[in-house]
Amino acid sequence: MSTLFRFTHTLVSDFADLLFPTLCLGCSRSLSANEKILCIDCRINLPETKQHHEPYERDLLNKFAGKVPIAFLASFVYFKKGSIVQKLIHQIKYRGQKEAAKELAGWYGFQLKTESNLTDNMDLLVGVPLHKSRLNQRGYNQADWIAEGLSEVLAIPARTDVLIRKRFRSSQTRKNRIERWENVKTVFDVPDHQEVAGKNIIIVDDVLTTGATIEACAIELLKAGCRSVGVLTIAATHR
Ligand SMILES: [Zn+2]
Repeated sequence: MSTLFRFTHTLVSDFADLLFPTLCLGCSRSLSANEKILCIDCRINLPETKQHHEPYERDLLNKFAGKVPIAFLASFVYFKKGSIVQKLIHQIKYRGQKEAAKELAGWYGFQLKTESNLTDNMDLLVGVPLHKSRLNQRGYNQADWIAEGLSEVLAIPARTDVLIRKRFRSSQTRKNRIERWENVKTVFDVPDHQEVAGKNIIIVDDVLTTGATIEACAIELLKAGCRSVGVLTIAATHR
């Protein structure tokens, strides 16, 4: 980038900030220069789960009990309707807020790295994939952005090609647990088993609800020969 371009670019973005100040995604207050996506008040009030201190908690792992062995499962924050977390997830999922996805993932990654050894022996981060046609339609997969953000802090590579979604299925939102499971259980595939064989893999998603989708991913990865599967998500609907 030329100096002139950089200078002009800075001028333009400063000017844009004057016209359209960057607002907190939680409370819409103007952000100061050292705040990103959330103001400090919204940031410190995020309902962190701190599950990385007890990632094997029975209630959580019960979501997967008897179906698939999950090495660990932890989420950054709790998801409640009408909360700031819901606003953030909405911005990421439907408004393409990549910066928010990466920032949240970065905060979480830092917490995991400094407060736990959960991810110490993990080899790959894999976002829950979208079907190709959905990806083309939406233009992005927010789970991959979260994996990218975690990858930068945890220094674990993120891959988007080792796990694929084979079929395009109807929305999960109006289905109960069993229907959701029927809907996703054969949807994923690992095209090249060599890519995952013997590896410790972290499945990454934005929100953990029933866990049916993540469970289906874990089963395919384990069938393909990976050594273990852990799960990290930004948000989780309470316990
Ligand atoms: Zn705020």
